[in-house]
Amino acid sequence: MCGIIAFSERGSVAPHLIKGLERLEYRGYDSAGIAVMSDCVIRTCKTTKRVNDLEAKYNAHPFYGGVGIGHTRWATHGAPTETNAHPHLSEDGHFAVVHNGIIENYEALRAELKSEGHFFKSETDTEVIVHLVEKYYNGSFLKAVLAAAKRLTGTFAAALLCIDEPDTVAVIRNFSPIIVGIGTDKTMASSDVSAIAEHTRKAVYLDDGEAALLRPDSVSFYDFDGNPVEKEITFLDGTEGDNGKNGAAHYMLKEIYEQPDAVRRLISEHLKDGEVSFSLPSLSREKLEDIDKICIVGCGSAYHAGVSGTTAFRRLAGIPAYSYIASEFRYMEPMVDSRSLVILISQSGETADTLASLREAKKRGAYTLGVVNVVGSLIAKECDDVVYTLAGHETAVATTKGYTTQLAALYMLALWLGSERKVLGDKRKKQLTKELAALPGIIEEALKTEAHAKAHAEEMKELESVFFIGRGTDYAAALEASLKMKEITYIHSECCPAGELKHGTISLIEPGTRVFALMSGGEVAAKTVNNIKEVRARGAHTVCCAPVSAAAELTDIDEMILLPDTEPLFFNIAQVIPFQFYAYYTALYRGCDIDKPRNLAKSVTVE
Ligand code: GLU
Repeated sequence: MCGIIAFSERGSVAPHLIKGLERLEYRGYDSAGIAVMSDCVIRTCKTTKRVNDLEAKYNAHPFYGGVGIGHTRWATHGAPTETNAHPHLSEDGHFAVVHNGIIENYEALRAELKSEGHFFKSETDTEVIVHLVEKYYNGSFLKAVLAAAKRLTGTFAAALLCIDEPDTVAVIRNFSPIIVGIGTDKTMASSDVSAIAEHTRKAVYLDDGEAALLRPDSVSFYDFDGNPVEKEITFLDGTEGDNGKNGAAHYMLKEIYEQPDAVRRLISEHLKDGEVSFSLPSLSREKLEDIDKICIVGCGSAYHAGVSGTTAFRRLAGIPAYSYIASEFRYMEPMVDSRSLVILISQSGETADTLASLREAKKRGAYTLGVVNVVGSLIAKECDDVVYTLAGHETAVATTKGYTTQLAALYMLALWLGSERKVLGDKRKKQLTKELAALPGIIEEALKTEAHAKAHAEEMKELESVFFIGRGTDYAAALEASLKMKEITYIHSECCPAGELKHGTISLIEPGTRVFALMSGGEVAAKTVNNIKEVRARGAHTVCCAPVSAAAELTDIDEMILLPDTEPLFFNIAQVIPFQFYAYYTALYRGCDIDKPRNLAKSVTVE
């Protein structure tokens, strides 16, 4: 969500800013802009369209200079218009700012600044920053920026320019991510390491309450009181960037096909010589034995992975486990303490509500474990320990490999905890480990459902509403399948526990309604079969995804999708794949922007 890019260099910076914004596009945005220090004047170019439109506009009227800032905005305050697009300038054009986050006290600040004669051009909360810097400026850019930063409450990462220091970019951070890169003859900052990975291998992650001054040959770091701060350099390994679509029509399709390898990579990292193991330095043996509750917290698909994970922890480790939506967890006075294990799941590692939940859980003394994809991200750094999902860079806003690797990580953690706490007998452990090792192959088999989904998706393109049902872990996978459908096709999609249909949702079923039923067998299979029959009796077109062994029980279904059998606890990982394809092809037939669905952001950095 929103992207900041900034460079201080000697060449022509605008093409680097635009390229950086292209790399940040996947995070989601609704307008974009750049500002460049050009002959001691700050010049801007903005668009309410895509970054390629910004590039065309810039190329029509280029301006030159080596220092600049750029932004993709995901509007929170004020419509996505050109006036509200960042960068914002002070009245006299002396200063410019781009900002990610929300300034919570902006109304009071705006009133104060207006009463002092400042004139506001936009409706954004952001604009107060640049007026505050102007207000406090007394010859020192750094001092003015820090004085302004100390007046702000809320979440912010911001990059600023000042015409009196034409080779300098100032950067500040509270809660929203910003990373500084140190290259040769250039320095840079970005909200996402993937935007700077092609320019440098040296990155510095700013912490809350820190600022940096970037010049072509140097970077200095400060706290908000102006004291210099020593920062650690993180060396990037070059895999952080986006490596293109690799011939696929969309990133989403490419990433669907990357799932077997991603899950294989993760499993082989933790499954060695027939034993699953994790190195979690902050989890002592005593603490591990002492855990009496597990809370899994996430948003969107990460929450859905958590719903699947709870069953695995209950069944394999014998520990009460609950899943929570992060924006609820953080405000619910969560009953966690030093005996709780709180697992925070986030692909980006910077999801604002998940980060806030992590801080809440820590405050209450819980042991916190991140399940995160982006190395060195905020959540990864702030958790007591982290398990990286090793999915590689995920560009499509709708997650696929990000989600399935989260599932694999949770399965392995549950198996490991069960084994460490001696809940699992040797035989069951061996069998589960074998099933785990086979999962990448099962996913490969599930990828063969593409043709089926493609063939049936066209019939769905005019539908207004679809339903997903399942019980137990099937319900967890149905939640994710339903989310995939709505986020990229814009068809209303509702997920209902199959047993709950009769308590309301069944009133919406009429002839022709599509109902997708997920069914992995086991004790609830017969019940789900009855629920499928109930909706079919009311004219629904039923689609059922089940393991081959359950095929005999499934009669009178309009479309059957059969997958290889596996341990039912692990079945979700394959079960969701046909629905990734259904969503993908339905969106394609409807002409939707598959990789960048409207209003959505990849990395949700506001609450
Ligand atoms: N709150 C700011 C705005 O609406 C920044 C939004 C963002 O993070 O993109 O302009």
